[in-house]
Amino acid sequence: MAKKYLIETFGCQMNFHDSERMAGLLDQAGYEPTTEEIDADVIVINTCSVREHAEEKLYTRLGEIRVLEQQTGHKPVVAIAGCVAQQEGEALLEKSNGHVIDVIMGTQRLKMLPALVEKAARSPFAEVDINPWDDVTFPLGITRRGDPVKAYVTIIEGCNDHCAFCVVPYTRGHERMRAKADILADVREAADSGRTEVQLLGQIVNHYQAPDDPSSDFADLLAAVNEVPGIERIRFASPHPRHTGRRLIEAVRDLPKVCKHLHLPVQSGSSRVLKAMRRRYTRDSYLELVAEIRETIPAATLSTDMIVGFPGETAEDFDQTMSLTEAAQYHSMFSFKYSPRPNTLALKRLPDDVSEDVKTRRIVALQTLQREIQTRLNEQAVGTTVDVLIDSASRRRDAEMSGRTSGNTVVNCQLPGDTDASEWMGRIVPVWVHRAGPHSLWGEAVVSHVRRAAGDVN
Ligand code: SF4
Repeated sequence: MAKKYLIETFGCQMNFHDSERMAGLLDQAGYEPTTEEIDADVIVINTCSVREHAEEKLYTRLGEIRVLEQQTGHKPVVAIAGCVAQQEGEALLEKSNGHVIDVIMGTQRLKMLPALVEKAARSPFAEVDINPWDDVTFPLGITRRGDPVKAYVTIIEGCNDHCAFCVVPYTRGHERMRAKADILADVREAADSGRTEVQLLGQIVNHYQAPDDPSSDFADLLAAVNEVPGIERIRFASPHPRHTGRRLIEAVRDLPKVCKHLHLPVQSGSSRVLKAMRRRYTRDSYLELVAEIRETIPAATLSTDMIVGFPGETAEDFDQTMSLTEAAQYHSMFSFKYSPRPNTLALKRLPDDVSEDVKTRRIVALQTLQREIQTRLNEQAVGTTVDVLIDSASRRRDAEMSGRTSGNTVVNCQLPGDTDASEWMGRIVPVWVHRAGPHSLWGEAVVSHVRRAAGDVN
């Protein structure tokens, strides 16, 4: 009987995609996936350390695995992957009393997973491999894609920017670009397997320069992906504001498959704080960029990341974050209270001097404002018809599906009662919107206009 594996993922899309890659590698090695911990011969925990409490979450999880082991006598091989593994390495063994962990594998050692698991299964000692000097190639066709509609495709690994608050350069290493030919082969393979949306991933996607075609930048890559038959929508995460120039804005405007949405992480509305963060743009230059995007692509939506309570952030700095939020009119925002992360410049050089109370008050104020803004923006869609790429079915109601607009707004829509919901996955469906909330829209599919992702019209 084939051995079984279970992968648990914390963190961002990049971690989600790394888990898809590890699943594919274990499939190739003869394992089968399971969702039941008790059946798993291998449990992989793919960790994230971008936000606080990631390690605590890991230790809690290891404790649960240990309890199950004591209760049932079942001992799976436990592998820790991702950013916490890269950051902590062997120290994780000590911190977890060495009881449960069998493999510690760095972010750039994914390809070693089956070999490390096999070795650990035969050894009383843990296997630790956090060598950061791997390349970015990954065998084509190995990934087990977990999403039936969206394909994640990595174009860049790592980052050289060293923003003061960020662990990524320490956990994912220096910036490496993937060959354009490999990326396009991956996209074609995703389209051949029925995916209609591709999401290009990298820490700074718009820093891309093709190593196999030096004249080709990120806008050229978007143009090439736009030509791949079967792909209906292209998204990317995340561009850096300081690399978002005219060529990219025009590419988003002109390439029909590229979604009219830009996630532009700003992090703070105060130039003083941005300087301390080492973001290398100012409040004014960011707002000029927003204005240029609004003028060039009036339908474009924007989203962002924001940190409150960064070291030294005054009440005036925070007021500037609030006023920038009002000015930029984001459709959505990920906002966080600052917490020092291991190895970062902020941890080494800047005292965490904004009190927890003040951070909490500021984040509540920011999130309240953002909620009002996105409610207002979503209400503007009521009474209009929007194109929605259907990507999931409602677990609660038959014939209710959900998907996203080109601008990345979630839309829940009612389908005709006699339709098989699964038939609609991956299709772009016009939806008449009759209700809006702060996080999503509700509407009804305009059935006579439904078109298949492949292009035929019903
Ligand atoms: S650009 Fe800054 S925030 Fe983004 S991954 Fe690089 S160091 Fe981190």
